[in-house]
Amino acid sequence: MSKIQNYILGNWTSGAGEGVPLIDSVTGEIVGHASTQGLNFGEILHYGRTKGGEKLRKMTFQERGNMIKSLALYLTKRKEQFYEISYRTGATRVDSWIDIEGGFGNLFANASLRKLFPNQPYHVEGDPIDLSKGGRFMAHHILVPKQGVAVHINAFNFPIWGMLEKCAVNWMAGMPAVVKPATSTSYLTEAVVREIIASNILPEGALQLICGSANALLDTVESQDVVTFTGSASTGRMLKAHTRIINESVPFNMEADSLNSSILGEDAIPGTPEFDLFVNQVRSEMTVKCGQKCTAIRRIIVPSNLMDDVQTALGKALDKVTIGDPRLKEVRMGSLVSKDQVEEVKARTHEIAKTAKMVYGDFDKLNLVGANGKGAFISPMVLREENPFANLAVHETEAFGPVATIMPYKNLDEAIELAQMGKGSLVSSIVTNSDEIAKDYVINAASHHGRILVLNRENAKQSTGHGSPLPLLVHGGPGRAGGGEEMGGVRGIKHYMQRCAVQGSPTTLTEITGIYQPNSKYKEATQHPFQYHWEDIQPGMSLRTHNRTVTDTDIINFANLTWDHFYAHTDITSLDGSIFKKRTAHGYFILAAAAGLFVLPNKGPVAANYGLEECRFLRPIYHNDTVYVRLTCKQKIDRDVASAEHPSGIVKWFVEVFDVEDELVAVATILTMVQKKQEVFVE
Ligand code: NDP
Repeated sequence: MSKIQNYILGNWTSGAGEGVPLIDSVTGEIVGHASTQGLNFGEILHYGRTKGGEKLRKMTFQERGNMIKSLALYLTKRKEQFYEISYRTGATRVDSWIDIEGGFGNLFANASLRKLFPNQPYHVEGDPIDLSKGGRFMAHHILVPKQGVAVHINAFNFPIWGMLEKCAVNWMAGMPAVVKPATSTSYLTEAVVREIIASNILPEGALQLICGSANALLDTVESQDVVTFTGSASTGRMLKAHTRIINESVPFNMEADSLNSSILGEDAIPGTPEFDLFVNQVRSEMTVKCGQKCTAIRRIIVPSNLMDDVQTALGKALDKVTIGDPRLKEVRMGSLVSKDQVEEVKARTHEIAKTAKMVYGDFDKLNLVGANGKGAFISPMVLREENPFANLAVHETEAFGPVATIMPYKNLDEAIELAQMGKGSLVSSIVTNSDEIAKDYVINAASHHGRILVLNRENAKQSTGHGSPLPLLVHGGPGRAGGGEEMGGVRGIKHYMQRCAVQGSPTTLTEITGIYQPNSKYKEATQHPFQYHWEDIQPGMSLRTHNRTVTDTDIINFANLTWDHFYAHTDITSLDGSIFKKRTAHGYFILAAAAGLFVLPNKGPVAANYGLEECRFLRPIYHNDTVYVRLTCKQKIDRDVASAEHPSGIVKWFVEVFDVEDELVAVATILTMVQKKQEVFVE
């Protein structure tokens, strides 16, 4: 029988001994054996930190992003082989799509985030903070990759997505990973890691894989490591309390079972599109992945007068769900992951059924298509709890399968309270066409949920649904859901970086951050800054222009040209009692006049002016006032050149307009596209 292997220390390695059998969830056959016996976890983590970490930390965000994108493209081309294996976990093609292509999609989405980071290995965050009156002492926050390894302990339900949603983020941040999938479905994770390693796209040491139990995995974690966990709340709590996690202050991100709720709005009566959307969503959340989704709906909270309607409609919808061999096209729901899970789900459902009534499904009877009793099949089951404020099992017991309970509410406050009785969840949804109800629910319920979907007729066709965590949104939730946060776009990447507040002079901080800091010393340019190509421009490089006196005629002409006849520019008889003392130049005129002062008219490397940010008019400029401009390179932002016909980068210029007393009157940041020296023409 084949051995599921571990990829550690640069080699595919089998653990000693026979290992534990991994069972096909549909046929009951043995897929292979997994063993971690003889593996030295301390050595594995050290290898990741040193071998993989050193290379990843030196790469820029653009390089890391491009690496992840290449990997996503490589895996997408080979996706079919993973579908074949995924059937063995009990997943239908649709279920597997979430795991396989959802996982690759996560790589693509995170790779795209490189555009939001500088082309360097570290990141500068937020605005500079002035710490002095004279402007000579300041601070800025930077984020550098942690020098440890990301240890991901994953659940059995998403063997691919679960790995990739986490790794995409730690690789973007510049950290290597050690992945420990749940043993039962680790053969699918192993298949993907085999392709990843064969691709040679990642630097050696960026990814290691442990298939099998790993109870000592956390014994050697260190303070620069990050641990993530997805699985049961009990295991999560046990690992979070590991002495090494506590003693070394290792960040521990936990995503655990949660009793997610969906609310039917009071307006969503039978016959409305929202009623149907609600029923279909509950059906789909109960049956996709056989209900083994951390985000699945467990609690169906409906207006008390609509309980019967919902029960009947949901029953009819579930009747249409064909259960059986997930390879068959007509099958809508496959199996649970294992026979053990069947027993577990039944036991939990019995717990809820002590007070709730079973109104759909059966513990034992099941019509199967194309499968026999050797698989881990189970019927969808709906329970009805009439008294959810007194009977708490429904808020405390998670049956990790196609099981959900309907319960009534009298008014929205009750619905909110019921949703909160789950003590924290990954996601909640409300289906309503009333934005008033939606607002009331969201504002009052958000404290208890990581994500809230408001579903209605307007967004239904494009909605990604209650159960889909999305790469750019935070995934996680408070309380029972583990109190963690995953993904979330740029937010997620920052979990794998150390934030450090750097204090110093503006000039020093300009050098460190690569961003010109106000009050920093200017680097006088020997020629006009617009004459330099992208490579030769430095943050701080600066030009002082000649002066211009703003005349009455300038102001009148600008008013006539633009039709902006605001009284301060055109009617000096109305100035009494206003903040203006004389005829005042338009702010936009000052900006335009500034451009007239700093622009070099000749054709040169500056390809285009493409925008403006952060513009402020600090005090009025009156007729006969004289101004001049400081044009200073604030920041350079590199762009991918692969698809660009004329490679260029973005240069942000800090524009300061002064009066002749050197008092600042206006500031703006303008963006230009500046050509690079090497023109590469791509067909
Ligand atoms: P567990 O919490 O037991 O396992 C989750 C992960 O933790 C697995 O990779 C497991 O490895 C690992 N693990 C367990 N003990 C240790 C340890 N001492 N040291 C290191 N790693 C450890 O969950 P199960 O997979 O057994 O599922 C049980 C229940 O968890 C389900 O019935 C469901 O309620 C819930 N669950 C929640 C999920 C969610 O997304 N929130 C997902 C899946 C399950 P191994 O497989 O080798 O034991």
